[in-house]
Amino acid sequence: MSDWKLPWSASCQCGQVKMRITAPPMVSMACHCRSCQRLTGGAYSLTLLIPAEGFAVVEGEPVIGGMHRAELAHHFCPHCKNWLFTRPQGMPFVNFRPTMLNDASWVQPYAESCIEDRLPGAITGAKYSFEGFPPPEKYGELMAGYAREGAKPQ
Ligand SMILES: [Zn+2]
Ligand SMILES: [Zn+2]
Repeated sequence: MSDWKLPWSASCQCGQVKMRITAPPMVSMACHCRSCQRLTGGAYSLTLLIPAEGFAVVEGEPVIGGMHRAELAHHFCPHCKNWLFTRPQGMPFVNFRPTMLNDASWVQPYAESCIEDRLPGAITGAKYSFEGFPPPEKYGELMAGYAREGAKPQ
């Protein structure tokens, strides 16, 4: 567990929302879907799946934005409007945007999804690529592989 150099501190661009991560991520992903392109304003989104009990907002009050869906709550900073994390309803994890980490220099996607929507030039170096979203039965294998060989903080 010390491999991960926890805890991690994270912040939105303006600093109003601060977050703290105290549990190792389950897997890191890049998503090329059209929603992620629009939500991030970039070519793809980066995600760390963090166990829900290992993720906390320690300052500020994120607001719901993006697609405004109860089952996939997109949380944003109320001031700078950065997309910070998503809480998929009923899931034991949070989809955290690792670009908010104070040190994101080590973050590398282990798998990438929705490459059918991938923009030319958006090459992530992920080990596994999926046309759409990975099938649920694939996550066990992905998480085991990530725990073994996923990129960790230097
Ligand atoms: Zn996506
Ligand atoms: Zn902000």
